[in-house]
Parts: sequence; structure tokens; C-alpha cells
Amino acid sequence: MEIEKVKCLIIGSGPAGYTAAIYASRAGLNPVLYQGLQPGGQLTITNDVENYPGYPDGINGPQMMEDFKRQAERFGTDVRYGIATAVDFSSQPHKVTIDEQKVIEAHTVIISTGASAKWLGMESEARLNGSGVSACAVCDGFFYRGQDVAIVGAGDTAAEEATYLANICSKVYMIVRRDEMRASTIMQERVKKTKNIEILWNAVTDDILGENAVDGVRVRNVLTDELREIPVKGFFVAIGHQPNSGIFADYLNLDENGYIRTIPGTSKTNIDGVFACGDVQDFTYRQAVTAAGSGCMAALDAERYLSAQDLH
Ligand code: NDP
Repeated sequence: MEIEKVKCLIIGSGPAGYTAAIYASRAGLNPVLYQGLQPGGQLTITNDVENYPGYPDGINGPQMMEDFKRQAERFGTDVRYGIATAVDFSSQPHKVTIDEQKVIEAHTVIISTGASAKWLGMESEARLNGSGVSACAVCDGFFYRGQDVAIVGAGDTAAEEATYLANICSKVYMIVRRDEMRASTIMQERVKKTKNIEILWNAVTDDILGENAVDGVRVRNVLTDELREIPVKGFFVAIGHQPNSGIFADYLNLDENGYIRTIPGTSKTNIDGVFACGDVQDFTYRQAVTAAGSGCMAALDAERYLSAQDLH
């Protein structure tokens, strides 16, 4: 198998990966970045990004990621198509297999593979994604201000997003598939106390309604089979995220949900020379700007590691 040696390998191309690339290339680490399965990451399935500082008029997600990429390339990042398919972090240099065809030997590896939202898996959900269907209330809630929306899920994320949406929207229907919520008691209390949230217990989504944009949701009561159509303009899915950490599981410490554990206040993992940033290690904030910030940390940590090892 072909082998290539690099100082700094970045896996993933969301805000975290590209920010790490901008810093690493400006620091002279000649980074190679593999874009992964979804070049540009989750933002490429968002329409307008209005909360990223520096874009006062907002910007669409794919364009923003193109800007990130150009900025990384301007300083010499070698941005490539390709997916990391296996790793061997047992000794320096670390080895990462790309597309099962090539091995990159890297003194530092920055993991920014992100997380993927889980979806219900229905046709209307995929068709209306970005046209009323969203997996991020903080990103897209604002577009439905003063309107009615629905959110599906009953964990902490759904509870948090439902209360967030309730501040912006006139009414929030929360679709819960059982007769209880998984969310922590305090979050449940908050949801129940919020006047403009209506919880639909024992309810599942039968279909999301609308041709080119969401104009309603049909829910089914699982106990009675009764169907109810509710007019809403936004449909939020908050049934969990899956961090893209599977290939690292043999080497890195992961938490119980699969997120990579980093040493608090740093991007360092339990393996020297391997750093993690962005949503693959953060289930709390999950914002483009926080991911970018952690990408910067990872590049600085990688640079310091290389200097300390005389590998710079
Ligand atoms: P969770 O896995 O905790 O919850 C997912 C929710 O979605 C569950 O209520 C589940 O229902 C529901 N669900 C799953 N699949 C479907 C489906 N197909 N149809 C309908 N409902 C479905 O994910 P979260 O993202 O909420 O949280 C992940 C982790 O992050 C948790 O540990 C959570 O505590 C943590 N977190 C903490 C926060 C905080 O502390 N501020 C904020 C956000 C998350 P069911 O219960 O029936 O299985």
C-alpha cells in the first residue's frame, strides 16, 4: 500500500477541520486535510447561517464552508477528497488509512469528523430538509419566529430546543413517542412549565406535510391509532446525534455516547499527538463558531506538540 508521510493530518472538513487547517498551515505544518463523507460537514445542509460573527447579512451554509476551504487553501493546506477508513495509533508516527488504499503516516492527527444528526427516515423528511425540516433549533429556529413549529424527541436536546423555540415561536408541539420523557427532570419541568409548549404524548410522526415547504405534520397516537394534522411551518428533529468516532474506538477514550474525550480546556486525547475538535468531542454547544474555536485550539496544541518533540 502507498505510504505518505506528513507532519499534520486533519480528518474532516467542517468549521473545526478548516479552522485547524488555517492555523496549522499558517504555522508551517503543511497540513493535509481529508474532507470525509460529507465535504463541508453539517453546515452544507443548512440554508442561512445568521449567527456566525463576521457575516452581518448572513450567509448560506455551503457558501460559508467554501469560504473556509478557500481560506485554508490560501495558506497551503492540501485539501483532498477521501475518507479515513482505519487508524493505527499504537506508535509514532500515527497511521491513518485513506479509502482503504493509502496510508498516511502523521506525527500529529487532528480529528474533526463531526457528528451526524439522527433522522426519522421518512421520505417527506428528506425531501423537505432545509425547507422547514431541520435538526438544529439554534441554527434555524429564528426563521419561524412568530409561527407554529413541531419538534420530535424527548431527550435533553429536544427539551432544550423546545424551550429555545418557545421563546421565538408562537407555539411548539413536542412529539413524544412514549408516555414519559427521557430528558433530565429539570429539563422536563422547564418544558412543562412553558405555556406555549404542548406535549403530544404517545405520539409518532406519521408524515410531514407540504410540497415544497413544510405546512403541517400528521401525528399518530400509538395507543388509539388516531391521526391528527397540525399546521406548522417548521419541523425539528431532535432524536440524538451520532458522533463520527467509530474508527477511533480501539485507541481513544470515548464517553458512553461515543464522543471523544478530550482533556478539559485542551484538544488533547489520551494518545500523544492525536487531537480532537468540533462536534466529535462536543455534545453541549455544537455551534459552528464553537467548533471553529476548538479547531484553532487543536492546531495550536499540535504545533506545540511538534515543537516539544523536535518534529516541527
Ligand atoms: P437522547 O438519546 O438522550 O434522546 C433521544 C430522544 O429521541 C429520546 O427521547 C428518544 O425516545 C427519542 N427518539 C429516538 N429515536 C426516535 C424516533 N425514531 N422517533 C421518535 N423519537 C425518537 O439524545 P439527546 O440528543 O437528547 O441527548 C444526547 C446526550 O447528550 C444525552 O446524554 C443528554 O443527556 C446529553 N445532553 C445534555 C444536555 C445538557 O446537559 N444541557 C443538552 C443536550 C444533550 P425514547 O426516550 O423513547 O427512547
